[in-house]
Order: sequence, then structure tokens, then C-alpha cells
Amino acid sequence: AKAAGRNTYQLFAQAMHAQNAERLDLEREMRNGVQAQQFVAYYQPKVNADGELLCCEALVRWQHPALGVLSPARFLPLAEETGLIVAIGRQVLLAACHDCLRWRQSGYPDMRVAVNVSSRQFSHDDLAATVQSCLDDSGLPPDALELEITESLLLDNLDAAIRLLQALRALGVKISLDDFGTGYSSLSYLQKLPIDTLKIDRSFIQHIDSRSSDAAITRAIITLAHGLGVRVVAEGVETAGQCAVLVEMQCDLMQGFWFSRPVPAQTLAAMLGQRLGG
Ligand code: C2E
Ligand code: CA
Ligand code: CA
Ligand code: CA
Repeated sequence: AKAAGRNTYQLFAQAMHAQNAERLDLEREMRNGVQAQQFVAYYQPKVNADGELLCCEALVRWQHPALGVLSPARFLPLAEETGLIVAIGRQVLLAACHDCLRWRQSGYPDMRVAVNVSSRQFSHDDLAATVQSCLDDSGLPPDALELEITESLLLDNLDAAIRLLQALRALGVKISLDDFGTGYSSLSYLQKLPIDTLKIDRSFIQHIDSRSSDAAITRAIITLAHGLGVRVVAEGVETAGQCAVLVEMQCDLMQGFWFSRPVPAQTLAAMLGQRLGG
């Protein structure tokens, strides 16, 4: 029994070792990838009830030299843990500003772009300075840029978070509350938050045309948001049926595979001026 125990321990130690080695490899590759600008922005359209493409969300992808295009789920947790997300996030933000300016100059002067901000970036002390420098470097007007933040960023210190949001808004950028409905969002704190838009989480949209409770919640959120002067975006719209329900509820913008998957910047450029969905 003793021998078996030792064996088990050795296997366990080996597995741990392999896991750590893999982690270190990934971290080293990620550092190199930041240097080599392998982290790029893909874009997913946000459209109005007429299918007009008015805005898009930048979603980071890692163009890994050996593994191909990697999704955030593969690398964001470690990027967040190691703090590399700050450098990656800045590259995505700058790319989004440059790309959006290009689209605006190519005949779509009202085009806007949204960029995700994670907790590590949010608590990094110079987020406002980073945003300002990306706007300056690119020449993008501030009101063309929207920052998507999640409620979880606000929980630690709500007052400090509100001050930062106010500082960002003072630059002229818009603030969007992402994944709304998944956290402990009390509707009462919505009025405290300096936000321009809220994004209803995909989990409510998924069954919106079959589950009456999800439809009721979504309708209530839209009504409440509009009452507070906040615009509403629905994420994860995958079917014509979901789209129709949301249009009927007067949802301002919709985003999801029904209109387009996230695509590279040049592909997005080719979609400008088109009507998406249906
Ligand atoms: P998110 O901000 O909630 O972004 C929406 C995610 O849902 C994206 O996954 C998008 O591709 C996916 N999606 C869009 N439409 C549909 C749909 O109709 N059906 C389904 N099933 N999924 C849909 P993605 O690109 O893998 O990104 C995952 C998460 O990674 C994002 O969630 C966001 O939290 C984070 N993320 C992405 N890019 C960045 C970035 O540049 N910086 C930071 N800090 N986080 C990022
Ligand atoms: Ca988002
Ligand atoms: Ca989201
Ligand atoms: Ca979501």
C-alpha cells in the first residue's frame, strides 16, 4: 500500500510539473507574442432594427505562429493573472482606434467601436491616460469610442469605480455595462452608474422567443434603461426569431452570430453600408 501511495504521489508530482511547465511555456510565448504584435482585434457588428451596422465590438485574438487563431478563453485567464493583459489590452485599444478612424474616413463618418476592459486594466492606475494616448495617437474622436466594462469590476470599491468612470467619460468616451443581468446587479444601482449603454447578457437572449420569463426580464430591463436615458444592446442574437422579439421590444442595437461572427478588420470594412441579418 505504501508503494502504491508513493506511486500515486509521483504521478501527481509529475502531472503538476507538466502543468507548470505548460503554463510557463504559454506565459513565455505570450510575452513574445506581445512583442511580435500577435494579438489582434477582430470585430463583431452591432446593428439597429434595420440591420444597419453602426458600431462594432473589438474582440482580441492571438495569431499564434504554430496554433493558428486562438480565442480569449485560451489565453485571457493567464494574461489577466500575469498582468500581460495590460499590454495586450493597450494594443487592442490602439488597433481599434486606428481601424475605426479608417472606417470613418472611408465614407462611414458615424462608425463607432467598443473595446473590452478587464479588471486588471481597470484597476491599473493609468487607464484614463492610456485611453487618452490611444485617442491622441490615432486621432479618433472620443465619442467614437466605447469601453465595455462588467459589473464585477465595480464590486470591490463602487465609489472609486464611479470616479474612474466619470474620469473616462470626461475624456468624451462612452461607457457600456457588459453582461448585464449575470451579476448581482441591483436595478437601483443602475441610476448611480455613469453609463451610456447596457448590454443584456446572451443567457437572457438565448431563449427570449420561447421562455416567457426571459422575455419579461428583457422587456423590463429595456424599459428601465430607456427610462434612465441608457441605451440597450442585446448580445448573442443567433436567430431571426430572437431578433424580431428584440426589435418589437425597441432594443436599440443587436449583436450576434445572426448578423455576423467576429471578423478581421478588412472583412468588417467590406461589410460597412450593408444590411445585416435576414
Ligand atoms: P464578451 O465581451 O461577452 O464578448 C462576447 C463573446 O460572445 C465573444 O466571445 C463573441 O465572439 C461571442 N459571441 C458573439 N455573438 C455570439 C452569438 O451569437 N452566440 C454565441 N454563442 N457567442 C457569441 P470571444 O471573442 O471568445 O470573447 C470572450 C470574452 O473575452 C469576451 O466576452 C470578453 O469578456 C473577453 N475579451 C475579448 N476580447 C477582449 C479584449 O480585447 N480585452 C479584454 N480585456 N477582454 C476581452
Ligand atoms: Ca464585451
Ligand atoms: Ca458581453
Ligand atoms: Ca456575455
